[in-house]
Amino acid sequence: MPFAQLHLIEPILRALKHQGYVTPTPIQAKAIPPLLDGRDLLGIAQTGTGKTAAFTLPILQHLTNRPTSLVSKTPKVLILTPTRELALQIDESIAAYAQFLRVRRAVVFGGVGQGPQVRALYHGVDFLTATPGRLLDLIQQRHIRLDGVQYFVLDEADRMLDMGFYRDVRKIIALLPPKRHSLFFSATMSPQIGELANSLLKDPVRVEVTPECKTVEKIEQRLFFVDSDKKDELLVSLLKQSHLTRVLVFTLMKHKANKVAYMLTHHGIRADAIHGNKSQNQRIKALDNFKKNRVQVLVATDIAARGIDIDDISHVINYDLPNEPEIYVHRIGRTARAGADGTAYSFCAADERSYLNDIQRLIGEQIQVMDHALHSETAKNATGAAARPPPRGRGRGRGGFGGRGGHRGGFGGHGPRQHFSRRPSGTSRFKPRNRF
Ligand code: AMP
Repeated sequence: MPFAQLHLIEPILRALKHQGYVTPTPIQAKAIPPLLDGRDLLGIAQTGTGKTAAFTLPILQHLTNRPTSLVSKTPKVLILTPTRELALQIDESIAAYAQFLRVRRAVVFGGVGQGPQVRALYHGVDFLTATPGRLLDLIQQRHIRLDGVQYFVLDEADRMLDMGFYRDVRKIIALLPPKRHSLFFSATMSPQIGELANSLLKDPVRVEVTPECKTVEKIEQRLFFVDSDKKDELLVSLLKQSHLTRVLVFTLMKHKANKVAYMLTHHGIRADAIHGNKSQNQRIKALDNFKKNRVQVLVATDIAARGIDIDDISHVINYDLPNEPEIYVHRIGRTARAGADGTAYSFCAADERSYLNDIQRLIGEQIQVMDHALHSETAKNATGAAARPPPRGRGRGRGGFGGRGGHRGGFGGHGPRQHFSRRPSGTSRFKPRNRF
């Protein structure tokens, strides 16, 4: 079914054409018609399914067909999302879908100065995409009012709760006018999510899209719970095993990539680092050394690794877990290329536990936990604030490498599908903790 059959207005269809979209994704095909009819929506879907367009397009169409004046400090559409990366990504998508319409947008999230955000809101906006903490802050300071909200979208509700935003979300909902349209998205449904959805939605249509298979066949995935200060030791002990022949290690930050490569060299393991601060020549040299087996290990950040296309990577090691789950799939897809077997090891410290939850939710399975000398029960059992990195400025935060904009589309649900499967455990001294 082409987009034209969804009765979308011409400027929207033109924008979709500009984006290169030909057919609606399943969630778009199912959600757009009832949303155009003004229904509330309960969407069980995750990022990568095309849900941003599914909710943005009908709202854009309503705003265009029934224009109202902007009111100072007031959004007409409020989209609440758990992370700054998602907020930026959603805002970017709205900009693309609304490129032939007159639409004012703003984004608010914490960790940056509030001045520009406050100014952007002063004359009122059509779309406001926000994370809960900063939104409440600005509401309390009277820079934002929610009494003019016509459409409320709660995005990634399950992740919002995992991240401890339940009370903030409740407070925000309490400030919305009763007469509004509400859209609720969650990748999973639990009793608490169901209760939140019930309290928000009126006679919603329920649309569920099961993501097509998300995991990569032939990749053996293993998980190591470990304290942050023991990661180096764990990495060295793993790399000393003979079958780890060509290993790509991922860190979240550039300086960490350097430190890890240096530390490995110090332990007699041939390693090099590539990241955005290295010159093009340095990167080419490092890649060449890796391809020619002059170094056993390449330590990379996600952005630097994007262009790497090397066969026979025996192992991918996530020294740091990625802060967006789709990146995990990108990373581990670098092993097991061209029909070869591959292994992905992931280290998870206490403050990465929430990232692990996101990843396991996305891939739809629990990664097999390894029993090893440096195992950390604290990391394994971390919940709440302890399961998240400290706020920016006091340590590593989400978006450490500039957000996920650059990854859009790569695992968008429209590229070639990859499949994961679990294989018998490896033969090393690192034994699986739980058998499935
Ligand atoms: P989302 O789940 O909204 O984050 O979208 C995931 C990715 O799919 C984004 O890169 C979108 O640009 C892309 N996308 C969304 N809808 C379509 C479509 N109908 N055709 C092709 N790509 C799409």
